[in-house]
Order: sequence, then C-alpha cells, then structure tokens
Amino acid sequence: MLQFYAAVYNRALLENGLRIRDKMAVVTDPRSFPKRRSLFQRLGITKYAYISIFDSVERQTALLRDFKPDAIKGYASSLLILAAEINGLEREIKPRLVFTSAELLEDSSRKIISSAFDAELFNLYACSEFSLLALECKAHDGYHINADSVLMEFLDGEAVASGEKGMVVCAGLYNDVMPLIRYELKDVADPSEGKCSCGVSLPLIKSIEGRADDFLVATDGRLISPTVFFPYPFDSVDWIRQFRVIQEGRRKLVIQVAPKKAPGAQSRSQIIEAAERKIRGLFGEDMEVSFDFVDEIPLEPSGKLRKVISRINSGKRFRLS
Ligand SMILES: [Zn+2]
Repeated sequence: MLQFYAAVYNRALLENGLRIRDKMAVVTDPRSFPKRRSLFQRLGITKYAYISIFDSVERQTALLRDFKPDAIKGYASSLLILAAEINGLEREIKPRLVFTSAELLEDSSRKIISSAFDAELFNLYACSEFSLLALECKAHDGYHINADSVLMEFLDGEAVASGEKGMVVCAGLYNDVMPLIRYELKDVADPSEGKCSCGVSLPLIKSIEGRADDFLVATDGRLISPTVFFPYPFDSVDWIRQFRVIQEGRRKLVIQVAPKKAPGAQSRSQIIEAAERKIRGLFGEDMEVSFDFVDEIPLEPSGKLRKVISRINSGKRFRLS
C-alpha cells in the first residue's frame, strides 16, 4: 500500500515535469525524514536530499547550493522564508519546479516563491491518512482529485453543489489495513463540475479554503473563510515577512505581523487604519481589531506556520451561511 501511495505521489510530480533523473530537495520536519532509501534511490534513479525546516535559513541555503536541486518541495511558509533569503542573489539554486503542500497557499506567497526561484510552482493537497488527494496541473486552474485512489465528497450537512463550499470527506480505495470510509478531514473546499482545460478528465476542486476549525466568525454569526485575509488586508505587502490572524473572542481579532523592516510610526498608523476599516467591513463594525507587530511569529511544533487560528470555533458544527 505504501508503494501504491508512493506511485500516486510520484505520478503527480512526473506529470508536472519532474524527470526521473532529477534531484529533489525536500524541506520538511526532520521527524518525517525517511528512515531508509527507496529502491529507486538506491539504484540512483532519483536523488533526494532532506533539509530540516528547523535549520537556520543560512544553513538551508548552503545545503541547497551544494545539492543544486532540479525541484524543491516544502511547506509554503518555509519556502517563503527561503525565497526572501535567496531572492535575486542566488544563481546557484535554480530548480525548474517547486512543490508546496500542507498549508494554505495564498497568491502573494505563490508569486514571491515562484519568482525568487524562477520556477513553476505546483500546490499539492495531501494528508497523512490518504497521501496525495489532489494536485494542480500546468493549467493552474484548480486541483485534479486522485479519483483512482480516493473517493472524495464535499458535505455541508448534505452534498454541496458545484462551486459551493463543503467539508472534505474521503474514503480510501486502497488501504485494506485500516479502511477509512467517509472520513472527515476537517478541511473545507469547493468542488467544480467543469473539466480542466489540460484535457485530464479527473474531477476538480476549484479551491481549498483551509481547515474548518480555522474559519472565523463575524459578529453577526456568519462563518468567514480564512482566505479573506489572503491577499492581506494591507494595500502594500512587500514589507510583510510573516502574518497571522487570531480570533480571540466573538468580538476580538488580533492581527500579528512580523515586518521585514518596521514601517515608520506615521505610515504604520495609516496602514493600520485602512486595514482596520476593511476588516470591520467584513466582520462587523463592532469587531475589535488589534494589531500586534512582532519580530517573529513562532512556528507550530510541526514546523508549519498556522496563518489563521480561531480560539472560539473548535468543535462547532460546520455550517456555512
Ligand atoms: Zn488540468
């Protein structure tokens, strides 16, 4: 079964331009480094280098410079930090392909990462229970569902229509050790009835909206997708290094920003005022919005950056209105 999942994963990478003799650098949690090399790797067909997300960005860059990968795979947040480090200066790190997974990928991060590496970026939708669930293709217009390895439904009480948001519920078609049937993944996504322009006829997801637990609540009770914060609520964004939204209470949002370089006091107050107006317009005029400028936003123990956290919504039945 693990070999089957590996094949499903590799198919996605090969379809999107990975070649069998390419070198792939994987920037990830060291606890998920493989314990032994696969048969392919022992035969020297594919070369993988694993780089810890907990290493300093300077060390990660040095390892990449030595390895000279053709493709890089990692969490969007860690590739974003690497992108800022190498941007425009690093001509020795020239991957053709970049794959991101495991976190929400907002358009601004996508642009920064692919332009820093000067490479095409593909976002993958995967989970530990079912391996790769869906992937972008070269058309970059939604995600192809791996319908030959997983049966995916989108539910909000009942099955949602094309273009509506629903909870992702999956049944694995190949796991006979631990069969998972109609297993709720706590992610929200919207299915699309259309066919992809690339010609592949697999069913499509239009967008992946993030974890249901991370949905935010407006003061009138409406659930709001975490994606409303991406693009950021600021007019210019090139000064932002890290960004996070925390809903502390029904009427309290805290916006954390780690700037590359702190904006001056006057422009900071203008930036905040404009963003606050935008956020209140979405969440209700009686929403308290506070801004917290910090040096660094700590990563989760897994090394991921949770960009949106709700401290009030967990356990709440998902119901979009
Ligand atoms: Zn396609």
